[in-house]
Amino acid sequence: NTVFIFAELTIILIVFTQNSQQMEQKLMRYNKKLEYLASVDSLTGLDNRYSMCTYLDSIVKEYNNKKINAFSIAIGDIDFFKRVNDKYGHEAGDKVLCNVTEIFKEIMYGKGMVCRWGGEEFLFAFYNANGDQAFEILEEILTRINKLNVVYNGQTIRVTMTFGLTEYAKKLPVEDVIQEADAKLYHGKGNGRNQIVY
Ligand code: GH3
Ligand code: MG
Ligand code: MG
Repeated sequence: NTVFIFAELTIILIVFTQNSQQMEQKLMRYNKKLEYLASVDSLTGLDNRYSMCTYLDSIVKEYNNKKINAFSIAIGDIDFFKRVNDKYGHEAGDKVLCNVTEIFKEIMYGKGMVCRWGGEEFLFAFYNANGDQAFEILEEILTRINKLNVVYNGQTIRVTMTFGLTEYAKKLPVEDVIQEADAKLYHGKGNGRNQIVY
């Protein structure tokens, strides 16, 4: 009897262990998926605001520990984007967002991070780059945006963008730097758009 009960318990234990291992793996996969969904913008596949804030915190730490010499932040906003939606429809607007994103991803690769900050606004963090270096990268982006043809339902849509750029200054809260970049962007909007204000 004892042997029989012992064997039975062993089998139950094996089955239980296997089940809990499978469950754990399932939970880990689920966790990864949740992590992805919480950090990425579902339309463009860009990092979202939350990811950017985490990234900025880590950059500021590196800067304060003198691991990097400089970093810069820019905000870019699509000009007259409401008109695009009004004229071509919301889906066409979505396509524009995805097409400009491809340019950002390509040019920003290995140079820091770009995120969808909100609606048609994008925040750029230039890793170990001073304002002048970041400006050059943004010029490249702006040139590409100016050449971009977004084809939707046989129609060609052209857009421009305005950017505000600021180099991070020591001990300043990163929020202040973002605010400064935003103020410059606003200035560019009132000053003809399709430009980088630095
Ligand atoms: P400005 O040059 O001053 O930036 O003008 P604007 O028209 O781009 O700015 P405004 O803030 O008036 O309009 C932004 C528009 O962006 C309004 C909103 O419907 C649109 N938008 C925001 N998010 C999305 C999105 O995910 N998809 C689409 N298609 N449109 C979006
Ligand atoms: Mg806009
Ligand atoms: Mg906007």
